[in-house]
Amino acid sequence: MNKLIILGSSNAIPTEKHENTHMAAVGQEHTLLIDCVSNPIIRLPQAGLEFNKLTDLILTHFHPDHVSGVPLLLMNMWLLGRKNPLNIYGLHHTLDRIEDLMGFYDWYNWPNFFPVAFHRLPQEEMTPVLENSDFRVFASPVRHLVPTIGIRVEFVKSHKSMAYSCDTEPCPQVIKLASGADVLIHEATGGTSPGHSTASQAAGIAREAEVGSLYLIHYPTRDFDPQTLIPEAKEIFPGAVALAEDFMEINFN
Ligand SMILES: [Zn+2]
Repeated sequence: MNKLIILGSSNAIPTEKHENTHMAAVGQEHTLLIDCVSNPIIRLPQAGLEFNKLTDLILTHFHPDHVSGVPLLLMNMWLLGRKNPLNIYGLHHTLDRIEDLMGFYDWYNWPNFFPVAFHRLPQEEMTPVLENSDFRVFASPVRHLVPTIGIRVEFVKSHKSMAYSCDTEPCPQVIKLASGADVLIHEATGGTSPGHSTASQAAGIAREAEVGSLYLIHYPTRDFDPQTLIPEAKEIFPGAVALAEDFMEINFN
């Protein structure tokens, strides 16, 4: 328990070994999914997670490589008889579109659907997202092409913490969000795409935030060797640097 499982690590174009970026924080009583792609009913059990134990889902922004799995997750949970409520958190921009998307599927007429609570977050720094016996979670707006949030997760029982930049250009909001965290998971899409960061920019944020270690994620995987990003980041950040890989577990005990 008190761990983060990387469920996908790729940028917007996945490969066989690298699914689109999403991850799950696992506590004793709660499991929190951060973004939702592919088909979670397949992916979560592959990572050793019972997908009906999901209690909370945070959606960072409304791009297909971060939210395309939501309709299948909701439909499959319903078809498998879920009764427990599911909390979904995100900005107004994101959740309005998720509700519209589900509306296109006519989900209000799906009989005996389990309760889904939408929690709309303001675009303010260090917004409290949720607090339970396992996690305390905060969100801050970051710099991407559409309204987007980065996330800080504090593991209540072990007093460890992590931050996830989401898709962003380097910005002071992520430095504050990640300040003093044990782990920063930062995107490294590359400098040619607007709204994104390079590995060395991610390392600069990690250094400013004085985090314990840096995991690069959301990196290119097609016709590209992401290992080359490690020395690039190590030139800037003095702590440990690694690539987040699919099904990697990061311990927060
Ligand atoms: Zn993305």
